[in-house]
Amino acid sequence: MISRTTIAREVTATGTALHAGVAVTMTLAPAPAGHGVVFHRADLGGVAIPALYDRVGETRLGTVISQDGVSIGVIEHLMAAVAGLEIDDLCVTLDGPEPPILDGDALSYAVLLEQAGRKAQDAPRNAIRLLREVWVEDGKARASLAPADHLSYHLEISFPTAAIGTQAFDVTASRAAFLQQIAPARTFGFLHELDYLKSIDRGHGASLENTLAIQGDDVLNRDLMRFPDEFVRHKILDAIGDMALAGAPLIGRFEGTRSGHGLNNALLRQLFSDPRNYEVVEL
Ligand SMILES: [Zn+2]
Repeated sequence: MISRTTIAREVTATGTALHAGVAVTMTLAPAPAGHGVVFHRADLGGVAIPALYDRVGETRLGTVISQDGVSIGVIEHLMAAVAGLEIDDLCVTLDGPEPPILDGDALSYAVLLEQAGRKAQDAPRNAIRLLREVWVEDGKARASLAPADHLSYHLEISFPTAAIGTQAFDVTASRAAFLQQIAPARTFGFLHELDYLKSIDRGHGASLENTLAIQGDDVLNRDLMRFPDEFVRHKILDAIGDMALAGAPLIGRFEGTRSGHGLNNALLRQLFSDPRNYEVVEL
């Protein structure tokens, strides 16, 4: 039997919210077996928001979860680190509207989680095994989950800038592969969209320290890049974070073409819309 896992002790980090631009302190704390990952807004009465696909509202500029009128945005990078390190039960407390963006990657969160240590729970770890393929499409974008013996991710992206072009990446899920190949990949943005973002009161915390900034065919802060194909790796990071909202690890093959948070969430809704699509198995 593989046990569910939580962290051994509480850890705290402070940083800037990517969209709101305000300072946020985040505390990660151990949680009992079966608790899952639950977020709390300490500044808004501590309302508990489970990190589950059916709590997702907006997805245009990051994945936002809501409960009783209280929202938390840009949870996908932290969720990717939690899923990538195979942590099942965790209590996340924030005093603001988003986790701090830190380095714009999942490695910052993974380092924090590793500092917190792992603690095995006295309960078996369950997974959601795909029994048949499910997919969603939106124009040229597509995302699918298909039966497979191991969890793996394949993603392809194509952007009309030489800074990105067409990139594809494939990874079979493991803690080591996540830490080495996916977690360091930073988020990215287009400079020409930044004025628009700020006009709708978003992107206030984006900086050349946490976001790969693309202008025309160049990456302005290229010295920050960790991989030549960092953009598609970051899209896999986002997909891992979004799939973590299934509430348990998946066993199957994820394939995405130009997919983003909206399609990722639609894919989970499609998966859970029919119990014949999956079965819950003990690992
Ligand atoms: Zn991202």
